[in-house]
Amino acid sequence: MPALKPKPQPRPCDGCTACCEFLWVEEVDAPAGVPCVHQCRVGCAIYGKPERPAVCGGFYCLYALGDPQVDEPPDLCGVMVWVDSGEIRMRELRMGALEAPWVRRALDAWRGKPVVMERL
Ligand code: SF4
Ligand code: SF4
Repeated sequence: MPALKPKPQPRPCDGCTACCEFLWVEEVDAPAGVPCVHQCRVGCAIYGKPERPAVCGGFYCLYALGDPQVDEPPDLCGVMVWVDSGEIRMRELRMGALEAPWVRRALDAWRGKPVVMERL
């Protein structure tokens, strides 16, 4: 599968590496919870290269995309929030993180949109 072109990213990841650890990326044999071997000091060592898996280029992190409801990166707030097939997915990375007040505010703002919550 060809890698997608890097997409514009309004917010920098600022040291967060959650998606490279908590998504299962079959192409690089990185199960959820195990950091991908391509992680490096600046993020992804194969960013923009053809060998970067398509799933990585197609990951729509709402923090990185500048969604106003998600104002902290996943490694800080403990919740990874992304869009997949028209659904907003919220995966808890730290026990209890989905109980934070910002999550309730975000759910109110997204009322009417499909949201899937994955608790620990
Ligand atoms: S989860 Fe979002 S903020 Fe964190 S590394 Fe991935 S794209 Fe960047
Ligand atoms: S290939 Fe790059 S973007 Fe994809 S999981 Fe690994 S480090 Fe992250």
